Amino acid sequence: MNNLNKEKAKKKIAALREKIREAEYRYFVLDDPQISDAEFDKLMQDLIKLENQFPELITADSPTQRVGGEVLDEFEKVEHSTEMLSLDNSFNAEELRDFEQRIAKNTAQKDYQFVVEHKIDGLSAVIRYQDGSFQLGATRGNGEVGENITENMKTIRSLPLKIKDKAELELRGEIYLSKSEFERINQQRLENDEKAFANPRNAAAGSMRQLDSKIAASRRLSILIYDLISHSEKEFATHLEVFFYLKEQGFNVNWHKKAAGIEEVIEICQEWEEKRESLDFEIDGLVVKINDLALREELGSTARSPRWAIAYKFPAQQKTSRVKDIEISLGRTGALTPTAVLEAVELAGSTVSRATLHNEDEIKRKDIRIGDTVLVQKAGDVIPEVVKVIKEKRDGSEKEFEMPEHCPVCGSKVKRPEGEAVTRCTNISCPAQRKEKILHFVSRDAMNIEGVGPALIDQLLEHQLIDDYADLYFLKQHHLKDLERMGEKSSQNVTEAIRASKDREFFRVIYALGIRHVGLGAARTLSNNYSSIEQLRAASSQELEEIDEIGPVIADSIINFFAEKQNRDLISRLKQAGINLSREESEEKEEFLAGLKFVFTGSLNDFTRSEVKDLVEKAGGRSVSAVSSKTDYLVIGDNPGSKYQKAQELGIEILTESEFKQLLENKEEK
Ligand code: AMP
Ligand code: ZN
Repeated sequence: MNNLNKEKAKKKIAALREKIREAEYRYFVLDDPQISDAEFDKLMQDLIKLENQFPELITADSPTQRVGGEVLDEFEKVEHSTEMLSLDNSFNAEELRDFEQRIAKNTAQKDYQFVVEHKIDGLSAVIRYQDGSFQLGATRGNGEVGENITENMKTIRSLPLKIKDKAELELRGEIYLSKSEFERINQQRLENDEKAFANPRNAAAGSMRQLDSKIAASRRLSILIYDLISHSEKEFATHLEVFFYLKEQGFNVNWHKKAAGIEEVIEICQEWEEKRESLDFEIDGLVVKINDLALREELGSTARSPRWAIAYKFPAQQKTSRVKDIEISLGRTGALTPTAVLEAVELAGSTVSRATLHNEDEIKRKDIRIGDTVLVQKAGDVIPEVVKVIKEKRDGSEKEFEMPEHCPVCGSKVKRPEGEAVTRCTNISCPAQRKEKILHFVSRDAMNIEGVGPALIDQLLEHQLIDDYADLYFLKQHHLKDLERMGEKSSQNVTEAIRASKDREFFRVIYALGIRHVGLGAARTLSNNYSSIEQLRAASSQELEEIDEIGPVIADSIINFFAEKQNRDLISRLKQAGINLSREESEEKEEFLAGLKFVFTGSLNDFTRSEVKDLVEKAGGRSVSAVSSKTDYLVIGDNPGSKYQKAQELGIEILTESEFKQLLENKEEK
């Protein structure tokens, strides 16, 4: 092929791509197409033809790359640059006012504004652009590590593969399926004798979890962007400015409205409660956020959620159903939890066939009997509940429920301590409890031991090969080989997976222990404050409560955990097995910037923004985006922005790039 031809093709390809991008934007973002589908197909066909002729001219951000193709073996893990937190919930005007009160208490600032947005019921994604091209898309995963779903996300037509801005940026948005697409897909599945999806969110999540991006491409998903996490060059003062910029770049931005005060927020929330059905996608509420980004920084977050935002969940949806039976299930703590088995009903977009009844008193209070017609409700992700019995429907055949006197799993006598609502199996080696504890221990966020699932644990307990999670580490391969469905290869894999879990990070081990109320966030906080299990065990409840993010309930629970001989025993066996029961030495040494907050402004010569962020975070510090009174250092590059002035006003220590370098070098030598 001669050069002239290739040069011409290059120009033609560029022009076609530009036209297709414009058409996609008009169709999928603005919902205002200006060319017909046939014209669009023609452009696409022309581009495909040229690209086939000159495959070396195909780029990852070409519109032809949206159709899906490559089938992956597995999803790569992606570490998030900033943890993806949850949102606190509110359910009524009073709780929204409380939210405002908490903010007022935490800042001296007086006149702040809110931005109210739709809370889209889909799945959240992190999106990165570099040099003007879509570079990476990832799921939330456990908040810290997600999965790389770039190939699947490319199939989302409302996500631009190319933008004007050449900076490095990271965004967050919600991937969702419109109600009409959801119906189309389910219709098709039923025709193919496949199981229908329960709701649009499951369908969207299922599509993004496909290793074959062609499947995702066939599902026609959408995305709405609701946040900018970082931008390597620009600085923004408010959330509204961010939205304005994102729109300018061609993103499909989430619906939003400014509100001057909490009363205005409440009005908007009530308005949408009635209008929600008019949307072609499901929202489970609204999200209320502080507009001023510096104030967000000042308010910060708890281990679980930001203090500057709250979700407003719409009131539950209710329907009637019939209680077919009441079953008992056992939890990790041995609690007997009654569950109503219901005639299936469609509720808030999913099929409900069970509802928790919490405990014996709850059943008595609501007078729920087997055979009763009941009102069931569901709100968002909350487990469905029975609101009340419709007594007019009784015909006398209903049976009263009685709490069993014996554990349905091990047969031991159950006990309900005076003054407590919960009935428990008193047998500390009850297989049900043991199983739940072990399941928690091996789960993904804890020790992440692949291959050890419910079925294997059942077998191990049954054959008395283990009694608790510490015993896992003393299993030999020959123990496993003879179990059902095991064999040479899988028993080897399992022993290998168990062995590999020995050096999980300390905070995961703390979480894995299964101390009540200690979730992953609290475990991390504890590991930041105590460098070994001995230190943690020696902590008093007063000392624990002094830690930001650890309340009295968690503190008590930790004390109780270590007070039990059985648990101390477990820990000494974990130690014997060589489990990592302390923070790594190296982690400590590097933490010479522990707790310090850095802000960067202007362009740096020797580092990119993500490099400095990495350096600071590795040393235990934090890189934040806006200057506030809590900032420790402002590092300035060339042409610093408004942050410089603000830092001067607040008297914050200012470092030049070379001073910042010195800081890193000096400390590292120590
Ligand atoms: P939750 O998981 O209920 O604590 O709420 C947090 C989740 O809400 C995030 O991970 C997002 O997936 C989702 N979400 C939906 N819409 C928004 C929005 N406008 N702003 C922030 N988060 C949102
Ligand atoms: Zn039991």
